[in-house]
Amino acid sequence: MNVVQTLKDLYPDWLEAASDALAQGDTTRQSLRPQLERFYELLLQSVETEDPTWLDSILYLWVWSQTVTDLNSEDITIIGALQALLDTMLDVARARLTEAEALQLMEALRPYWFHMMEYAANQEMRARLDHTVAELERIQRELERLDKSKSDFISVAAHELKTPLTLIEGYAAMLRDALEPIDPQLKSQIAPMLEGIFRGSERIREIVDDLTDVSLIDNNMLKLAYQPVWLGQIFRALADELAPVLEERHLTLKIHRFPGSERMIFGDLERLRQVFRNLLTNAIKYTPDGGKITIDGRLLPGFIEVRVSDTGIGIAPEDQQRIFDKFGRVGDPRTHSSGKTRFKGGGPGLGLPIAKGIVEAHGGSIWVESPGYDEEKCPGSTFHVLLPLREEQPDAEKGSLFAKLAAYIKKGEQP
Ligand code: ADP
Repeated sequence: MNVVQTLKDLYPDWLEAASDALAQGDTTRQSLRPQLERFYELLLQSVETEDPTWLDSILYLWVWSQTVTDLNSEDITIIGALQALLDTMLDVARARLTEAEALQLMEALRPYWFHMMEYAANQEMRARLDHTVAELERIQRELERLDKSKSDFISVAAHELKTPLTLIEGYAAMLRDALEPIDPQLKSQIAPMLEGIFRGSERIREIVDDLTDVSLIDNNMLKLAYQPVWLGQIFRALADELAPVLEERHLTLKIHRFPGSERMIFGDLERLRQVFRNLLTNAIKYTPDGGKITIDGRLLPGFIEVRVSDTGIGIAPEDQQRIFDKFGRVGDPRTHSSGKTRFKGGGPGLGLPIAKGIVEAHGGSIWVESPGYDEEKCPGSTFHVLLPLREEQPDAEKGSLFAKLAAYIKKGEQP
């Protein structure tokens, strides 16, 4: 049997049948025809030269001209179309040839169809992957944009809140001064209200400061003022500062001295105090009355590790990363009581992201370990802070590195 000649003979019938099989309306029928004609031409060329790769060009075009919806849909794939074209060929051959001839033709065409299927499947896989990657990239860009607008919003909100807050604080202070010469009875009535205004505005000031810090950290604009610090001193100062709250909540704070806690390192005193204040106020907030908070640590090569542990409600494994994201508080905000040191007293969820930003700006890292969340059993949490053991001003460090480099260059050596 001359396969090429047989194919040529079957062409008009196949073209009709294939257009019917694939097209779903007159317009698609019209636009499909030239494609099918080209396909058949290439099939003939492949069979004539015994080289199936002639068909690759049209298959490539078909696969890559599919839209994302085509690729995502289950039924319309090029593989499916190829299957339909092969079925039509079989139908036409059976109608026009003897059964034996039809089978012989199909047998002859088998390697070509096999190649087409394999090639189309490969390309389709690639096209799907490409589309998926593009889609993921789009989502990533969208998330980045959202994060950027969240961060812009924080910075604008913090800025806008500062001015009215300053006004409230200013007028309240003036009112307090103006009360001095007034009748003592009136004064004793008004003084507690004023106190309330002061407490409220102080809390807003803290939140505004936190928002400002978050936006500085987000925009990589946190500047550290390096100076000699002793971590032990920071812990003891915080213990004094928090003593009234600890007493009120019947909590004990135990500070262990450890190699490293009494060692002088370079760091930003105020910022490091802020880190440990945030960790300690959290430990207070999330530990029921009567619980225990412990600070200890150890000296590691090049680092000091501090551990702040509590006997509190603990943190679920799935939340242990998230709490370091801004507004990454756990649970429903409505169920939190407000108040900075009350049990489970919520805040805006900025304490840990700020602590993380500060620790990372120092070149360190922070993480938490906890067996899980359980308000009954109180498994506790341990926050780890790893700080570089910096014994010189960071700039001086850079300076000495440059000095070494300079010395090498002077001697004509490679570093
Ligand atoms: P905030 O306390 O203002 O909500 P933070 O950033 O300080 O925000 O903490 C984020 C969340 O991490 C808290 O809402 C709380 O769910 C959880 N968390 C932090 N510290 C502890 C702790 N010591 N024990 C249990 N949960 C904690």
